[in-house]
Amino acid sequence: MTDEQERTRPAGRRGPRPDRRAAAGTTEPVDPARFPDLAARRALGGVARERWEALLAEGLAAGGAPVLADGAMGTMLFAAGLESGDPPEAWNVERPDAVRAIHRAYLDAGSRIVLTNTFGGNRLRLGMHGLAERVTELDRAGAELLRAEVDAAGGTALVAGDIGPSGGIMAPLGALGHDEAVEVFAEQAAALVAGGVDVVWIETMSDLAEVRAAVEAVRRVAPGIPLIATMTFDTRGNTMMGVTPAQAVAALTAWGADAVGGNCGNGPDELIPVIAAMRDAAPGAVLVAKPNAGVPVVEGDRVVYRATPGAMAADALLLRDAGATFLGGCCGSSPAHLAAIAQALARP
Ligand SMILES: [Zn+2]
Repeated sequence: MTDEQERTRPAGRRGPRPDRRAAAGTTEPVDPARFPDLAARRALGGVARERWEALLAEGLAAGGAPVLADGAMGTMLFAAGLESGDPPEAWNVERPDAVRAIHRAYLDAGSRIVLTNTFGGNRLRLGMHGLAERVTELDRAGAELLRAEVDAAGGTALVAGDIGPSGGIMAPLGALGHDEAVEVFAEQAAALVAGGVDVVWIETMSDLAEVRAAVEAVRRVAPGIPLIATMTFDTRGNTMMGVTPAQAVAALTAWGADAVGGNCGNGPDELIPVIAAMRDAAPGAVLVAKPNAGVPVVEGDRVVYRATPGAMAADALLLRDAGATFLGGCCGSSPAHLAAIAQALARP
């Protein structure tokens, strides 16, 4: 997610205390027709599925290192001149070379799975900038840019289509109904798939009901595509909506996510126990850790992150030891952070 989105997201924190029962109550029996299980989806096969299985095998190989994801997109876009408050996804069309340069820097740092610049590329979020009618154009362009950069780098990394929160609050706390949320996410997912992503990565979620809508949307447009889902555990070890790591791993794996975990939040320190709790609750799950570069600190009109590459790298080893198979960084992390993590993980 971007620094801007991080700064605007916590509005809900000032709202009423989230009802934990509402969040927990979404862990209901799985309808296999809506969420085909792993075996059913594996059977669908396809190039994307094969590429995913190969990358996963590397990460799970005995004695092998975890798979490196990428770092922040927003932080890098701001450094390249994106103005605070502007939609990052517009740069997929207006400044494609700047976006590609960021992808390239992460690929050079060793990232094996990279996220498209489409975090806020849904109708509700883009609508805040008058861009609701450009969802398909901007998401597809984001996928094509990353695909082009991955191909230029030899084509071995995976292109992950990034889907962030809708920007609305799900009923009953908010006004966004399940069916509308599915429509919103399906429009974005269809554009990402049309642009050629290998994987869809749903990230920075707080509400299980919203993840469920996003998973259902992805399954509707691409039933067999590999799916990663990560939530943000930034409120005393739980998400802002009160979802515990154990609830998250149980629900997301039941809905057929290929890998689950945590991203964003208050830095690696807080994510280590989250990953450990997920590992305890679901010993067989493939886990993902993509923490911010430390605790967000407000400075003027910006949020800054102060963890150094060396500190992130040291914590990456602890996240690995806690059970993470995929490692990367979120807000505040740069290619320098990712290169340091890659170096630390490569040491025996
Ligand atoms: Zn973040």
